[in-house]
Amino acid sequence: MRRLPIFLCVDVSESMAGEPLMQLQKAMESIVGQLRQDPHALETVHISVIAFAGRAGMIVPLVELMSFYPPRLPLGGGTALGEALDEVMTRIEVEVKKTTAHQRGDWEPIVYLLTDGRPTDRTDSAIRRWRKHFASRAHLIAVTLGKGADTQVLQQLTDDVLSLEGSGGDELARFAQWVTASVAAQSQALDAGSAAPGISLAKAGDAGISLLKAGEGKPPEDDQVVVLTGRCSKSRKPYLLKYQALDMPDVLGSFGGQAATGVYGLEGCYGLEEDYFDWTAERTAPATQVNTNQLEGVAPCPHCGAATTFALGRCDHLMCCDGPGEQTCPWCDMEVNFGPGSSDGFDIGRGLG
Ligand SMILES: [Zn+2]
Ligand SMILES: [Zn+2]
Repeated sequence: MRRLPIFLCVDVSESMAGEPLMQLQKAMESIVGQLRQDPHALETVHISVIAFAGRAGMIVPLVELMSFYPPRLPLGGGTALGEALDEVMTRIEVEVKKTTAHQRGDWEPIVYLLTDGRPTDRTDSAIRRWRKHFASRAHLIAVTLGKGADTQVLQQLTDDVLSLEGSGGDELARFAQWVTASVAAQSQALDAGSAAPGISLAKAGDAGISLLKAGEGKPPEDDQVVVLTGRCSKSRKPYLLKYQALDMPDVLGSFGGQAATGVYGLEGCYGLEEDYFDWTAERTAPATQVNTNQLEGVAPCPHCGAATTFALGRCDHLMCCDGPGEQTCPWCDMEVNFGPGSSDGFDIGRGLG
């Protein structure tokens, strides 16, 4: 039986923290759950998952549907699209069987690339490599989520760029529905021997996904999100504070050390796993600074329930704090004495988003 390899390459950058990441997790479970009910898909479809934030990595190797167990998705800082593409190409080379004189290889692999941001690494050489060596033997469909995605870069990569817009929170459910339908249709067509090479995107509109025509790509809108990481002073576990721009979206600072302007409201504080740091890119430029006066809202610690996640250790890292007094910084182990609080703002480094 020839396999139909499906690579899901998903963006797990910080802007996905909270609800979007949960929705993405659900989307993956739904795609696999639905395809398992389809006899054609069950026979041929094999799925692999590659995740990328500041780093890219394979988190599920190519496996048949019945052996697929939805992974916990990591989260990290950055959007290393170039590295993600290189990882996809490596996996295709390693996992997809080519047709030779002695064996019938796999069907043409399909890559679904989902991203909500602009790349934070170099993408030129990966895009060149894809176009030269892979575009003719694999099908890549890029799907953008929200207005922060860089559709112009994606259009250099593939003609098939789809965009998921809206803010109802059901975008990823529609994504799952559509991926399921398109994979099922392809496996059925292959089984019937009627498959034209490539995959039909015609049904995307039915799922509320629009196909961007050449030249329709837009530059990404400025980052609307400020993310900060801290550690619980009791458990030492990391957490992520996520703030959304409240006004003046057009004057937010760009990366490279300038100060961001505008005001950001708290969206939530999410517990992180230690692997957050493995999935985060090392900084190549100074972090954009944001002043605490620009941030509205304080969240309790998701790990221990302490009243604030906005206390600052002497090493300039954030930690949780439950009131005045002496505490040990979970980052550097130095003692820090918290007073009753000061209203003066201080500057802290922003995450890459
Ligand atoms: Zn805590
Ligand atoms: Zn410290």
